[in-house]
Amino acid sequence: MSADPSSPKEPSGLRPLPSVKMALLPSELRARRTRRLVAGAVLGALVLGALLLWIARSVIPSTWAWMEEALGRQDAQLAADLGVGDGLLPAEPDGGVEQALSEEEAIALARSRPNARYETPFGGVPSFRGALLEAGLEPEECTAIEGALQHIVDFRRCRPEHRLIVERDENADLERFEYHPSATEFVEVTRGEDGVFRAEQIRVKVERTPIARAGSVETSIGDGLLELGLPAGFATFFVEAFEGQINFALQARKGDVFRIVVDEERVDGEFLRYGRVHALQYDGQRTGKVQAFYHEAGGKVGQFYDDTGRAMQGGWLRTPLRYDRLSSRFDPRRFHPILKRRIPHLGLDYAAATGTPVWAAADGRVTFAGRSGPNGNLVVLRHSGGFETAYAHLHRIKSGIRPGRYVKQRELIGFVGSTGRSTGPHLHFGLKKYSRPLDPLTELNGPGLRMASRDLPSYKSAMTEWKVLLAGIENVPMVVAGADEPLVEQVDEIMD
Ligand SMILES: [Zn+2]
Repeated sequence: MSADPSSPKEPSGLRPLPSVKMALLPSELRARRTRRLVAGAVLGALVLGALLLWIARSVIPSTWAWMEEALGRQDAQLAADLGVGDGLLPAEPDGGVEQALSEEEAIALARSRPNARYETPFGGVPSFRGALLEAGLEPEECTAIEGALQHIVDFRRCRPEHRLIVERDENADLERFEYHPSATEFVEVTRGEDGVFRAEQIRVKVERTPIARAGSVETSIGDGLLELGLPAGFATFFVEAFEGQINFALQARKGDVFRIVVDEERVDGEFLRYGRVHALQYDGQRTGKVQAFYHEAGGKVGQFYDDTGRAMQGGWLRTPLRYDRLSSRFDPRRFHPILKRRIPHLGLDYAAATGTPVWAAADGRVTFAGRSGPNGNLVVLRHSGGFETAYAHLHRIKSGIRPGRYVKQRELIGFVGSTGRSTGPHLHFGLKKYSRPLDPLTELNGPGLRMASRDLPSYKSAMTEWKVLLAGIENVPMVVAGADEPLVEQVDEIMD
């Protein structure tokens, strides 16, 4: 089974069809690269600073004495941050005690005090016990906490960034402990009257407020979203929702305007993240005005619909990942510019970062999962109606995905990689019907299915709400006609 038949077949020189680079997204890649560079520079500066400090400490004693004083003040600050300031440690900065303490000693002292309450990361320790000890718990306290948590917390799933909160009573005995694996849930362990610790799982209430924003396209939708403080990756929603109507690579223009309604999620009033995207609108010089609304109809996986209730995406097949751009299209007559011969490209190449989740395009059964020569790590699924889909060059196949296993549409099957004959991380996605290769895009862009009529009333009432929000955005930029040319020049790019 070959999903990426890039082997030479009929030799004939036909006009090379340039692969089309999606216009909107390369600049996002550039932005991401810039962000990584900045992060690298900051890290470098920190390392250099630590090195200088170390040199100063060992080489220039007088400098060190001055620094010791500064650090002493920091310790006092630290003790205050740890909640010791509420009358538990001498609060006067010249208390003498704090200034003489090292940072670790100050922390240890603060943690063993009566009424201490502090928060600490799980950290890079290899065990839960290790993290509890690091957090200043006594061995017998560790045993009590572990006992209370053993059927609730899977200790193997603890991550360094998880948070621990410790509270002691007026006798400095452990009274309360919290384990926070995420911002939206935590486990609370409290000491009962009988002295026994009991655990309770607590779900944090997440407040969701739909917000509506509008921006204009200068270089890409992604940059326009960043400009609004929204994730550039939301551009994928526009590309996916409108891919049956708009070819952004050819039709997007500088000065086009987009609108979006998305949930802002907050915990205790603090911004947590952006959630569900509810509505999209694109006003383009070449595209006209288009709208799409997200809906979960009849308990099914949600998708975008137009205002009549017809799905934006066609047929039975879904785009099998969130991608950056289409880097090679289906082209049975592709002329390979380097090999100088005709090598058909019988699938779609989606450029995406290594590790991007890949899901099943439709319900089906796994017929192949493993290493397959130039295809690298390959998964092949057989679907009803003689259809078959293939996912090549995977970095890793999801564990449990084996021949014979049934998968649901959108179920995770693997991760984007560059294994096999591949020049960069991408997913090669192939589609066959009774062993004959088909262009997946025509299946993806076929007419979408209509929502069942029983789901329409709830959809229409939700849609009315989103339309009001879209229309009510203030300071919407004008659609400005600029030079009538695509945003990014078309680039030849070879990926198999
Ligand atoms: Zn390919």
